[in-house]
Amino acid sequence: MRPSFLRRVSLSVSVVVLVVAMATAQGPGGRGIPVQVGEECPPGTTLIRVGRCLAPEVSPPSIVDYRPESTLVSEEHLSPKAKFPVIDIHSHTGPTPETVDRLIAEMDAMNIRVLNNLSGGFGDALKQKVDFIRSTSHADRFTVFANGLDGFRDVETGYGMRAAAQLEEDVRNGAIGLKIFKQTGMDTLKKDGTRLKITDPELGPVWDAAGRLEIPVIIHTGEPPEFFEDPDMHNERWLELALFPNRRQYLNETTWEMLAAERDALFQRHPQTQFISAHFGWHANDFGAAGALLDANPNVTLELAAILYDLGRHPRAAHDFFVKYQDRILFGKDTYAPSEFAYYWRVLETTDEYFDYYRNYHAFWKLYGMDLPDDVLRKIYHENAVRITPGLPESGW
Ligand SMILES: [Zn+2]
Repeated sequence: MRPSFLRRVSLSVSVVVLVVAMATAQGPGGRGIPVQVGEECPPGTTLIRVGRCLAPEVSPPSIVDYRPESTLVSEEHLSPKAKFPVIDIHSHTGPTPETVDRLIAEMDAMNIRVLNNLSGGFGDALKQKVDFIRSTSHADRFTVFANGLDGFRDVETGYGMRAAAQLEEDVRNGAIGLKIFKQTGMDTLKKDGTRLKITDPELGPVWDAAGRLEIPVIIHTGEPPEFFEDPDMHNERWLELALFPNRRQYLNETTWEMLAAERDALFQRHPQTQFISAHFGWHANDFGAAGALLDANPNVTLELAAILYDLGRHPRAAHDFFVKYQDRILFGKDTYAPSEFAYYWRVLETTDEYFDYYRNYHAFWKLYGMDLPDDVLRKIYHENAVRITPGLPESGW
């Protein structure tokens, strides 16, 4: 390059730096904007020294685009296959004539022995799913939970008895559990237009039927507590709330605390019914709360679908919690995506450190392995599910 060109470039860079410095330098004590110790920096600036905030000289990338690559060099233990056979108790995938062979090949490669479809429906739709599974040569690899009558919509007097009778029929037809979707208890309306609380006495016969039939009820309550908070710059799930309109629970009257209290009351009122609190009851970021829930309710287990981002950010506490409550936790994944299961094995089984999660909008932070002992892994992966779900295969593990 010609010297005159270099001089020109360096001159224009100096001019830019000078202009930016003038724009951001304020008051005595150096560059930036002064703040009190502990006070938050103004928008667009970041803390550079005690009591001083500065705006970047280069316009910052959006958080959507900022994906820094870690330079950490550390051991990696990547395995597509779980260490022990797995029951995915929280799936929404079941086999069809077109997919059954592919699913079996994928499940074998991951060491998933049973895929439990929580979207079984009820009545004829459910029976058809079970009948198809039984017609294949993989009848012990797929199971189905029922969903109650008509999605618990328009509940009125007499609904509970009809729904309980429907559940009995669905279990006769091969359902091995009942799944309650998050809408039930949160925003589904009764016939009279009011919100159907999960504690509504009309639903009592359903919970009692499940206890009598000895099938577990997996219940998804609410949404992560952050979805009920203002989507400001302090909300850990800002990106997710910005992406998905239907997750903006902060727009509704119902609070997370109300839903959790109603859920806990349900567990207390039906001690003979086995409940699985899906997604760790949204307590994977607070093991004190998770432990309190389990201690108060011997009829409750937790299931770990879609909360890996919380387990993996406090791996030592998670390790200790899983060891203490090793009989009370089940494996689940929710979305069936073969490329994502390996992240679960890595967090649960390994000592790996500071690795990426698979979805930025869930977690922009890194994950760490929990290093669970083998006997705990066996319980989480299948033994606990088999114990509380009589319809799962008992032998061959
Ligand atoms: Zn689900």
